[in-house]
Amino acid sequence: MMDVYSQSEQWSKDQIEQTQLTRLRSVIDRARKCDFYARRLDAAGIFADSLHSRDDLTNIPFTTKDDLRAQYPLGLLCVPQSEIIRLHSSSGTTGTPTAICYTQNDLNSWADLVARCLYMVGVRREDVFQNMSGYGLFTGGLGFHYGAERLGCLAIPSGAGNSRRQIKLVKDFGTTVAHILPSYALILGEALRAMGEDPQSLPLRIALVGAEPYTEEFRQRIEKLFAIKAYNSYGLTEMNGPGVAFECQEQAGMHLWEDAYIGEIIDPETGKTLPDGEIGELVLTSLCREAMPVLRYRTRDLTRFLTGECACGRKFRRLDRIRGRSDDMLIIKGVNVYPMQIEQVIMTFPEVGQNYLILLENQGVADQMRVQVEIRDEYFADDMRVMQQLQKRIANRLRDEILLTPKVEFVQSNSLPKSEGKAVRVSDLRRKN
Ligand code: ADP
Ligand code: ZN
Repeated sequence: MMDVYSQSEQWSKDQIEQTQLTRLRSVIDRARKCDFYARRLDAAGIFADSLHSRDDLTNIPFTTKDDLRAQYPLGLLCVPQSEIIRLHSSSGTTGTPTAICYTQNDLNSWADLVARCLYMVGVRREDVFQNMSGYGLFTGGLGFHYGAERLGCLAIPSGAGNSRRQIKLVKDFGTTVAHILPSYALILGEALRAMGEDPQSLPLRIALVGAEPYTEEFRQRIEKLFAIKAYNSYGLTEMNGPGVAFECQEQAGMHLWEDAYIGEIIDPETGKTLPDGEIGELVLTSLCREAMPVLRYRTRDLTRFLTGECACGRKFRRLDRIRGRSDDMLIIKGVNVYPMQIEQVIMTFPEVGQNYLILLENQGVADQMRVQVEIRDEYFADDMRVMQQLQKRIANRLRDEILLTPKVEFVQSNSLPKSEGKAVRVSDLRRKN
């Protein structure tokens, strides 16, 4: 018999939908074991046997991040406390973190899902997997770790940061696969170059990259720098952590593991479901979780379902690259801007280094946007005119994209602050009146 994680090609559309309905019914029963969902589902008149098709899901009220915060720490627990054996918490990128608990079954099915992702992109038990992600409460550490072990890889829990040690481990143990934050991947590459080494000479062949938004341009930089393949990885603590959606070798969107999660895209204003192809907010329902199932969770992540079938043949629908969170939207002089629109433009300039920072200020009256970009040493020119021309070219391209002309400032390579965790791309210094 084949291992469960190696069979993702074999699911038919029908099987996926049947599994979703069966599991949706059982998750409704399980969710009713906590007061919060019992009350909510009663009020909406939803019972396991009143669901006749997967689309009946839309009668279930949304769960928001504020709901989770209000139920912190254990309000959403649906099993006796003695059954939970692990706790994780979100990174708190947008405020108070939320806490999520796991039973042994939750940890097993989570490890299977992560192993399925790894297997899909060609990781095998012979691979050496280095997890350059923060361990501890963050799910990217233990989540990937157990997934890699499930697959039978040698899993190295190297943790975040400390580039010298990372590089030493890669060389000493012949690391072939790394899980790494996109922002840190480029920083690591620069650290190697600074040590006088060629990033392409490492044994690495695959990087699994996610946990924060980044653009296609950014991915291409990572792939070129190390001469590897970089696959996009999406997950969130409320849905276990990593292993929710993952790119296959086609690199054309991330397959959502629909046997374990139901995904919907809604209009964030009206809450109405949007058809595949349209961009909106991703809403997820966990189908397999026991300890804390979450129904119709508003992730605030903006993306869309890609239409059509993937060339790999898998029938799981694909999510497009996450454009950012609805919270990430900047409003400057009445114009809406997402940080990723800026990244997309500046990363196409070869002169631009690996880090950037968007500063918002309102000294004087109107809001101002300043974009600080690192310029590679080899492009830093003494000639002011050359530098000014480059600034102008970048500013013009940004204006075409975001309809505002930000001030572009050059700083030296490696001079902008680095974060150990998810990158901080925006510094909002505006005084609120
Ligand atoms: P927090 O929401 O506090 O950052 P998590 O650590 O649970 O906590 O992170 C989950 C979030 O990270 C997602 O909701 C999403 O915004 C972001 N994220 C995860 N993977 C990706 C990815 N591949 N692309 C873009 N954003 C991602
Ligand atoms: Zn595919």
